Amino acid sequence: MTLASFATHEVFNQSPPFEDVDLYALDRPLVEAVAANGGGAAEKELSDFGRHWGSAAMAARGRLANENTPKLRTFDSRGNRRDEVEFHPAYLELMAHSAHAGVHNSTWDSKGAPTGGASEVVRAAKFYMAAQVETGHLCPITMTRASVAALAAQPDLLAKTMPVIATRSYDPSFEPWWTKRGMTLGMGMTEKQGGTDVRSNMTRAERASDGYRITGHKWFMSAPMCDAFLVLAQAEAGLTCFFMPRFAPDGSVNAIQFQRLKDKLGNRSNASSEVEFVGAHAMRVGEEGKGIRTIIQMVQLTRQDCAIASSGLMRSGLAHALHHARHRSVFQKHLADQPLMQTVLADMALHVEASIALVMRLCRAFDRMAGDANEAAYMRLLTPAIKYWVCKSAPPFLFEAMECLGGNGYVEEGILARHYRESPVNAIWEGSGNVMCLDVLRALSREADAALAVLQNLAAETKGLPGADATVGFIGKTFRRADSERVARLAVEKLALLAATAALNKVAPRQAELFATTRLAADHGAMYGAVDLVNDDVRALLARALP
Ligand SMILES: Cc1cc2nc3c(=O)[nH]c(=O)nc-3n(C[C@H](O)[C@H](O)[C@H](O)COP(=O)(O)OP(=O)(O)OC[C@H]3O[C@@H](n4cnc5c(N)ncnc54)[C@H](O)[C@@H]3O)c2cc1C
Repeated sequence: MTLASFATHEVFNQSPPFEDVDLYALDRPLVEAVAANGGGAAEKELSDFGRHWGSAAMAARGRLANENTPKLRTFDSRGNRRDEVEFHPAYLELMAHSAHAGVHNSTWDSKGAPTGGASEVVRAAKFYMAAQVETGHLCPITMTRASVAALAAQPDLLAKTMPVIATRSYDPSFEPWWTKRGMTLGMGMTEKQGGTDVRSNMTRAERASDGYRITGHKWFMSAPMCDAFLVLAQAEAGLTCFFMPRFAPDGSVNAIQFQRLKDKLGNRSNASSEVEFVGAHAMRVGEEGKGIRTIIQMVQLTRQDCAIASSGLMRSGLAHALHHARHRSVFQKHLADQPLMQTVLADMALHVEASIALVMRLCRAFDRMAGDANEAAYMRLLTPAIKYWVCKSAPPFLFEAMECLGGNGYVEEGILARHYRESPVNAIWEGSGNVMCLDVLRALSREADAALAVLQNLAAETKGLPGADATVGFIGKTFRRADSERVARLAVEKLALLAATAALNKVAPRQAELFATTRLAADHGAMYGAVDLVNDDVRALLARALP
């Protein structure tokens, strides 16, 4: 097709934009994983969402929000503090569209209790599709939805804030949260001297007549225009979780002073601040000294979202790569018909199928954990393992997807360069790789019987698949080693692969067999496409990935 004419040449053999598509209906592995995990009834809602987020208009918003990065306005022209961050209108529109679809709150009812049903699965499908378009704005979206789990430790505060959190309006005005149509929440844990080891937090909390006064700093505090933050600080009885609003109860601007915004590799539409609290007003959330126990409820949910978002980034990489390969000819044949490119794309499709099946299986555990001890144990043991494997697999995956587009993949007019720069962050924040592996070990030692039951269920669900028995044996043996910490990555990766095989087996048994053959029975090569797949399987994988 001729796209434009020039004086010297015509443009042809270029793929058309992958836009104005239904991100749901086109994605059979997603549709089937949602149905297999209880969310099938939401098909129409998800298809509406998929068409909207797959539109060229939403893609343009994603590009604009990242090209026009947020700006910190520390002072006004008279030298007064402003501490406001200005965003491009496209970012504000992305926030409004996500909020309108309930991506920031739909797993909670109006009182802050879990909505139940398949609400986690359905919301995850939306989060997965939105991540294919723009991930930066999803930072405050995910923190807002997750904050409710921590606020549950302080029922009086939850009762006050929930009516504002529960609306589907995004209200970017810089006003006290209790006057707004909707609110967003962020999180401040990481300090200069330690992010993983939050016990080293130096920020202090002193009791005051209307709550607490917080003095200290945070080295990373993202989405600084949130209406409130859940912040860790040292109170008399130890590390405690606090609710710190942008405005104090008397309506004055709270003493939250932003020093600067981080200059980041990716995630550029989202602002991440360095901040000082100069006697900032805050309310306690949960008991004094129980800060980690309180905030971990929130962190568990943000870890889940990291895995969903990384799967979404990879799905987008795959869809763009496959779409391009079907339009681009090399040596008189479409790339998608060249045997070696087919193997690369099919192997990538298999990775994405397994990732989305696994992530949706995890979301089902979140949906059911309140009434089912086995699902609670699955959630506890596998959230860190899944975050580890899915998030860390995304950067090399997106690199491969870029390469499928050749030079076009590497330039900023396309979306893949942005996805690639975005992809490492999900592994780094909310518990980096090693920390996730150590968390799996912690679950194994503290809740050994429940964890063993999870492993036994995975063994039963993968019985007979190539390499499954040996993988189960390897995981058990490695975790039992006296030096299990040193070799934790070996066992956690295998655990995630086993869980992915089990999850995929419920959705697409033939694909599960292929996944087991290439990932359990044999160690997968370092590169995508370093596998031996027969033609029928290649065709089926690619047709499922994009009709
Ligand atoms: C873009 C961005 C936005 C962020 N936004 C926020 C935010 O809004 N709020 C917030 O609180 N934080 C935020 N963070 C901070 C982030 O959560 C931390 O950077 C992360 O938790 C790691 O902490 P750290 O940087 O202090 O690294 P460290 O804790 O020093 O860890 C460094 C490395 O050591 C490893 N490690 C740690 N302990 C062990 C161990 N026992 N054994 C082996 N290895 C270990 C880690 O896995 C990591 O790879 C953000 C970070 C980024 C990049």
